[in-house]
Amino acid sequence: MCAPGDESVSLPAGEPSADVAIVGAGAAGLAAAVFAARRMPGRTIVLLDGARRPGAKILVAGGGRCNVTNRSVTADDFNGTSPHVIRRVLAAWPVEQTVAFFREIGVDLHEEEDGKLFPDTHRARTVLDALLGAVAESGVRLLAGHRVSAVERCGDGFRLSAGEARVTARCVLLATGGLSLPKTGSDGKGYEFARRLGHSLVEPVPALVPLILNGDFHRGLSGIAQDVELTVHVEGSRPIRLRGPMLWTHFGASGPVILNASRHWHRARLTGQAVRLSVSYRPGEDFAAIERRWLETISARPKVLLHNALAEWFADRFAQAILARLGIEGRTPLAHLAREDRRRLLNGLLDWPLPVIDSRGFAHAEVTAGGVPLTEIEPATFMSRRCPGLFLAGEILDVDGRIGGFNFQWAWSSAFVAAAGIARWFESGAG
Ligand SMILES: Cc1cc2nc3c(=O)[nH]c(=O)nc-3n(C[C@H](O)[C@H](O)[C@H](O)COP(=O)(O)OP(=O)(O)OC[C@H]3O[C@@H](n4cnc5c(N)ncnc54)[C@H](O)[C@@H]3O)c2cc1C
Repeated sequence: MCAPGDESVSLPAGEPSADVAIVGAGAAGLAAAVFAARRMPGRTIVLLDGARRPGAKILVAGGGRCNVTNRSVTADDFNGTSPHVIRRVLAAWPVEQTVAFFREIGVDLHEEEDGKLFPDTHRARTVLDALLGAVAESGVRLLAGHRVSAVERCGDGFRLSAGEARVTARCVLLATGGLSLPKTGSDGKGYEFARRLGHSLVEPVPALVPLILNGDFHRGLSGIAQDVELTVHVEGSRPIRLRGPMLWTHFGASGPVILNASRHWHRARLTGQAVRLSVSYRPGEDFAAIERRWLETISARPKVLLHNALAEWFADRFAQAILARLGIEGRTPLAHLAREDRRRLLNGLLDWPLPVIDSRGFAHAEVTAGGVPLTEIEPATFMSRRCPGLFLAGEILDVDGRIGGFNFQWAWSSAFVAAAGIARWFESGAG
């Protein structure tokens, strides 16, 4: 029987053994399996996933269309502890390689707004089927419905338990994802494996997740989308400014700019820093600019009613809600609007507090912020610095990208580096 750290015990006989065991057949695990098999045709590779039908997250991605990557991906599109490692990984497997790889396995991609690349079929199923097909073709043994409950050191290698089954392997790649959308199978178990094998964890929080707002201002606005500039003010840090569409919902706010901000809010709350969010409904404009435009409108059309003037800038429902919240009478002709009210209104449009009380949590999060720190892996190979023979890829690592295909690009790129790292590890004789 093997125990953690028990280096003296040889691999047990009578249990299926492999050169490489990959835990998790999500984006990172599927890609890594194909990359590893291509690099090491003679090696036996098993890919275990708890789900009977792996790839659920790929199927729901991008609204069922799977935003596979982005035309332009740089380290600035990610959060996490080590931007230089992210840069290096993206250089090792850049977007062009992703596009070429998917073309080769039968998935042509096209570009949409903000550089997002989607399959020409507009169906995530195409992406998943192509990856599963490539895995099958590469000779990798996919063990679906095998939820791994333990990964232990065993002699020179590892021993994995999945229900009644036991698998021994010379090396292990953890591609178990984070905690986002746990019903797809990524329930944080991989963190436990990493911890037991010597790793620390940057505490995971939900990211790319809608935010819940206090009060009732948002309720009447549900369904309205608008382009905003959102500022995250975190005590002791420089303000983080994000721009993009925001969507009002019955519980609060969503849309790309809110999703991108959510990890900062969560991280600050976790570390006990005061955090507040504010929105400018006139992105790119300052007080002087909008006051000038407002004064021009007053002199051109002094009799126009305030709510009509505001409805030229915003949805009617939104204009009314703003005025009601500020207690300003919307039927006031512009020329009669008191200077104080005008200033309150314009200041409100530029700096509107969002009373965030929580997020919708991991069940609604697209990704996880936090995970195994990149400082604990070798950046050239993605082998653990704490446990030789253990490799990691994908969302289990402390990297989270903004919305737009960046998280999948991280999955593909990190999978490539880990697969190449495994091949080099065997070549070096260490395996
Ligand atoms: C709703 C939604 C939409 C998204 N849309 C996009 C998008 O369009 N573009 C984009 O770039 N990103 C998108 N993402 C993010 C993207 O899906 C993830 O970043 C990516 O899937 C992470 O890949 P991964 O392989 O690291 O982890 P996962 O995809 O989470 O895969 C982990 C796998 O490990 C398996 N597993 C976990 N624990 C065990 C265990 N103990 N034993 C066996 N198997 C285990 C799980 O079953 C799962 O199959 C979206 C996410 C969500 C939730």
